[in-house]
Formats: sequence, C-alpha cells, structure tokens
Amino acid sequence: MEKEKKIVSILVPAYNEQEVLNLLYDRLKTIMDNLSSYDFEILFVNDGSKDDTLSVMDKLHKKDLRVNYLNLSRNYGKETAMIAGLDYIKGDCVVILDADLQDPPELIPEMIKFWEDGYDDVYAKRRSRKGESFLKKLTSKIFYKTLQSVTNIEIQKDTGDFRLLDRRCIEALKSIRESQRYTKGLFSWIGYNKKEILFDRDARAAGQTKWNYGKLINLSIDGLTSFTTAPLRWSAIMGILVSLAGFIYMLVIIFKTIFYGIDVPGYSSTMVVILFLGGIQLIFLGVIGEYLGRTFYETKGRPLYFVERYNDQKETNEHLNNK
Ligand code: UDP
Ligand code: MG
Repeated sequence: MEKEKKIVSILVPAYNEQEVLNLLYDRLKTIMDNLSSYDFEILFVNDGSKDDTLSVMDKLHKKDLRVNYLNLSRNYGKETAMIAGLDYIKGDCVVILDADLQDPPELIPEMIKFWEDGYDDVYAKRRSRKGESFLKKLTSKIFYKTLQSVTNIEIQKDTGDFRLLDRRCIEALKSIRESQRYTKGLFSWIGYNKKEILFDRDARAAGQTKWNYGKLINLSIDGLTSFTTAPLRWSAIMGILVSLAGFIYMLVIIFKTIFYGIDVPGYSSTMVVILFLGGIQLIFLGVIGEYLGRTFYETKGRPLYFVERYNDQKETNEHLNNK
C-alpha cells in the first residue's frame, strides 16, 4: 500500500495585498508541483482587507482546490491573523509566509528537508534586508539588543515569522491564547529543536508596507512587556537609589541647619529636584500602567478573533460558546 503523504500547509496572512497574491500563488504553485511527495494546502487569511484581496483569494480557491482561505470579521493585525490561520490549517507542518514575496517561497524545499531531519522549527534568518531604510535597520537592531538583554529566552535576531513549524509547535502556539501576542517571542518561548537557514530578503514585490513607526513602537512595547517584568524591577531599583540620595541630602540639610543656621536655599536647585522626581514618577507610573493594561486585556478573556467565513462557508462562531 502506498504510504500516506504528509501535508505541508502554507499560511499567508494578507492585508490589502490584491496586487501580489497572484504572483505569490504562481511561485508557490511551481514549488508545490515540483514536490510531488507531499500534499500541500495554502491557507490565505484575509485580515479585513479594504481592497479586492478577498475576491482574489476566492478566485484562486475556485481554480485550485489546494487553496483555502479564511476571512476574518475585520482587521486584527498580523499577529492575530497568524493564530487564526494556525487554528484552521490541516498540515503536519506549516510554513508561515508574508504575502508580499519578501520571504522567497523557493526556500520551502530546504525547510522541508530539515524538518524531515527532525527539526521542529526551521526559521529563515535574513542575511540582508533590501528596500529597508537605514533607520528601520538601526531601530530594529537596538530593539533586539534591549529585548535580549532583559529576557532569559533567546530571541532570534534578524528573523521574522518566515519559518516552518512542526505540528507540535503549532499545537503549542495554539494553546497560548494571550490577546496581545508577540509571536516572534513565542516561537522562542515554546522551545523545541530549532534550525537556522540564511536568506536574502527581497524588497516588497508590490503594494505598501503596513508598518509605520507607531505600529513598530507598539509592537516593541508589547514584546518587552509580554516577556519580562524587568522594567518594573528597574523602577524599583531606581526608586531605591533616588530615595537613598534623598535621605543623604536630608542629613546634609539637617546638619547644615543645626550648625550653620537656616539658609534660604537656591530656587533653581529646588526646581531641578521637583522636576526630575516628578518626571521619574510619571515614567514609572506609565510602566506600571503598561503592565496593568496587559492584565486588563487578558482578564477579559475575549476570543482572539472572529471568522466571517472559511472558503464559501459562513462561520457562525457557535463553537466559541460551547467550550
Ligand atoms: N499583515 C496582516 N495584517 C495587518 C498588517 C499586515 O495580515 O494588519 C500581513 C501583510 O499582508 C503581509 C505581512 O503581514 O503579508 C507582513 O506585512 P508587511 O509586508 O506590511 O510588513 P513588513 O514586511 O514591511 O515588515
Ligand atoms: Mg513585507
């Protein structure tokens, strides 16, 4: 009897990607057709696109039965689109791929090879980044350095979400239902056997990047606060140092008052102390607020996303009520 073929799922989150989906499909098709020892599934997740992405997906689905698509009820962001996709894929492994062809699908056969060798997470590391500004490269470098220095888990540098994951990694990720997800960190956090392969990241094939600095800053703060409470520790240490300094200064003032009489101290030094301490207090209130905010979101325990439909089937989301 012929051995059953393993299924390789390809997960593509897409937001306003009507220009590139057909290109992407063509490149994927060549690869799928060449690897006849596997069955393939492409799952497009439409993350509430405002253009014709959905109808492009629908056409591809009608043309090729290996293509499925999931339509989310609105735009949730890439992190959520990915977990939605993971919930729906059928494969023994998954390759997560950006829609814009910045992650070359030609790497998939190599990833599969390492997967067959027993690796659970084959991630693609960028050797170069074309089409990204100097500032973006610099800021991303600084962010990774900071994140690495405050967390115990190893964060992979210059690595995106482009990777192959074994079924057990998929199940691990699915079991983590936090609402403000920082998936790059979760990949490291779940562990398992990791293998790095290098590639040159191309510039976007068409369309616009969805990231701006505002979103990147938010993602960085999510990354920091979801993996470490180090900022809270820094606040506490800073507080101790400042009050220690304050205490010593108090002794000096008492000493001076007793032995040299009351002297009216300078206006500027008083102002400096007030402004400095006031500033620090506000920053640390902000830090505490960040963590409190995260707790607030997580305790609500809302579903991570709602699905409008899966292929041509309307999703009722009933399953969410009978857990
Ligand atoms: N994306 C998404 N939802 C969003 C924003 C982006 O699903 O709200 C998808 C997007 O379609 C692409 C991937 O996430 O497939 C990466 O986005 P982009 O190329 O804009 O990011 P960059 O490569 O510039 O970091
Ligand atoms: Mg991109």
